[in-house]
Amino acid sequence: MSHFLPKKGVLHAEDLALTDIAERFGTPTYVYSKAALLENFMSYANSCKGRDALVCYAMKANSNLAVLKLLAAHGAGFDLVSGGELLRVIAAGGDPGKCLFSGVGKSRAEMALALSHDILCFNVESIPELHRLNEVAREAGKVAPVSLRVNPNVDAKTHPYIATGLKANKFGVAFDDALAAYRAAAAMPHLKVLGIDCHIGSQLLDDAPLLEALDKLIGLVDRLADEGIVLHHLDLGGGIGITYDNESPVAVPDYLARVFARIDAWRASQHGGKPIKVAFEPGRSIVGNAGVLLTRVEYLKPGEEKNFCIVDAAMNDLMRPAMYEAWMGVEEVVQSDRPASVYDVVGPVCESGDWLARERQLKVAANDLLIIRSAGAYGMSMASNYNSRGRPAEVMVDGDRAYLVRQREKPEALFALESVMPD
Ligand SMILES: *Cc1c(COP(=O)(O)O)cnc(C)c1O
Repeated sequence: MSHFLPKKGVLHAEDLALTDIAERFGTPTYVYSKAALLENFMSYANSCKGRDALVCYAMKANSNLAVLKLLAAHGAGFDLVSGGELLRVIAAGGDPGKCLFSGVGKSRAEMALALSHDILCFNVESIPELHRLNEVAREAGKVAPVSLRVNPNVDAKTHPYIATGLKANKFGVAFDDALAAYRAAAAMPHLKVLGIDCHIGSQLLDDAPLLEALDKLIGLVDRLADEGIVLHHLDLGGGIGITYDNESPVAVPDYLARVFARIDAWRASQHGGKPIKVAFEPGRSIVGNAGVLLTRVEYLKPGEEKNFCIVDAAMNDLMRPAMYEAWMGVEEVVQSDRPASVYDVVGPVCESGDWLARERQLKVAANDLLIIRSAGAYGMSMASNYNSRGRPAEVMVDGDRAYLVRQREKPEALFALESVMPD
């Protein structure tokens, strides 16, 4: 259920009018619903009840400390892609012992940091990375827990920029090279082989490619066991999509039920087969529809070919349309009987690529408020300071209360780290 619904003609976040939020915090502002966040997370957590399973929220989708703290308090682990993200987890009170560290380019410093905090596992993406991690662990006097990210070569049938499980992608170890990579890992004294993982793409509407990937991983786990390399967890990554327009993504409980059914059937078919921990790394499906971007109309600019609705949010605040040509819903905050026209909704940034929505029927005038829907994932976390624009404020709503969880960035903060050369 959406937690951003109209009441008496005014869109609310839970029980709070978005007009009030704009008044108090200004625009552009990301507004999150605590109830929506928890509902989405619990759809994973409840489906894992009674199972040896771990939900590691892929925090690159939205790494605000308030979001992390809330999820950590409900038992979430985290999927990290940088040392900075680990420091955020710690600052939010999350447990490094429930963190998986993904990514193709981990630096030595990041590895050493993660080792010093005893993270759950490194999701290693190449053989050179295995060598580097073995070395860093030796220097630290530790044994690094590792999983290999295997590229199952399945087509996630999603946008090419967010498909990650095909041979042509930079991610993971090729399926055909996985056995050799595991043998190499098992022979390194400062590595402990723990698991296997994959992540085939994002905004998947159907779980068939994920189940196909699961079958491939299961086959590998069996072949490794034959060689005496016994894995303790199997991590299916993230990727479940959300509704932006009229998509109908698979329901999370249905997907997880199918995963566990396959796992159970597989383990039952093994002679003395032991249970295996199952991990998930959802990002978008937890935060995506739990947030909107609240923005105000600066100007209406009618034209011969197009009408432009120029708002105070821009591509630097919300990259998805410019970067992926993503379609995002736009709605008026206050319902009115203004005349409807078709507009391109664009920002103030000096790029033709700076658009948020194209050819939308809107009833708007200057100074009206709009929301961009489903902006909770890959919104603020991808925001930049292009055009020396401070990033938006972030507000978390709980019932009829609003909490400022990130201040609007002040322009002076943007050049505080810069200095000029001496004369
Ligand atoms: C981005 C990412 C995820 C999360 O993907 P979503 O589509 O947001 O669920 C999970 N795992 C890894 C390794 C990722 O890079």
